[in-house]
Amino acid sequence: MQEKKILYRDKRDAFAADNGALVELDHWKKKDPTYRYSKLKGLISDERLADQTTEASLKPFTRGDSYFSEFALHNKQEFILSESDYSYIVGNLASYDKRQYPAWLDPKYSKCTPEGQGFGHCLVIPKKRIHNIVDPEAVANKCAIINELRNHFTGFWGTQNGRKKLLDRTFSIFDGQNAILRTKDSLQAKKLVADVISTYNLLAPQFKQLQAEDFMCAFHPAPDISVGHLHLHVFPKAELFREFSAMRHEWKTIPFDAVTQVESEHPLALDQLPKG
Ligand SMILES: [Zn+2]
Repeated sequence: MQEKKILYRDKRDAFAADNGALVELDHWKKKDPTYRYSKLKGLISDERLADQTTEASLKPFTRGDSYFSEFALHNKQEFILSESDYSYIVGNLASYDKRQYPAWLDPKYSKCTPEGQGFGHCLVIPKKRIHNIVDPEAVANKCAIINELRNHFTGFWGTQNGRKKLLDRTFSIFDGQNAILRTKDSLQAKKLVADVISTYNLLAPQFKQLQAEDFMCAFHPAPDISVGHLHLHVFPKAELFREFSAMRHEWKTIPFDAVTQVESEHPLALDQLPKG
């Protein structure tokens, strides 16, 4: 915990001392589509913007957007598991089981697989434009918004319907990748599908029994991010649920409590921020 507190404080203070980043943050919050960003990470590249295909009912992304900006405008309703006044809960778009992404299925998986960070991995995303946990707004007013993100998940998980929705979402992502595997008519593929299904069947009933406090709630600090919009990662703490999941983000996974402890011990001095 101590080293994660130091990591958070270092990244937060580095961002606050970077006048260029703060200027960009200002443009980003104003949704300025003409601005060329270079300091803020995790925004959609011009190449990706040029080649997006969007369903008619959804709004295409414009420059400066990240994949989580104005989430409901750009994403199908079915991705949203729960909505509060301030945030959305969405299921992770990659399966928790990295065995489902073998290099023989797709060579791009040999370098990096898109797997999630644990069974039932989901994200809680503020509706408002907040860039990352290092954005001063993330911890303003005694960490109001991040507390809301966590409380949203706790309330959601406390209902039968919430648990069912998250499990259904986990299954549909998992099953979608199985469907791709099934298109390979090989023994190797058949055995893999059977193996991952047996793990899923073992984990799903135990997952439904978890309590809200059995989940890790954590952030990844900028600039080491792929999506430039604050999101709380939520996934089970127990190793059992993470055996086949991504561990490559562990070094930068900052537990929720590390952030709130730093903010009570060494709060960010907002009045000392350079003026953009
Ligand atoms: Zn992240």
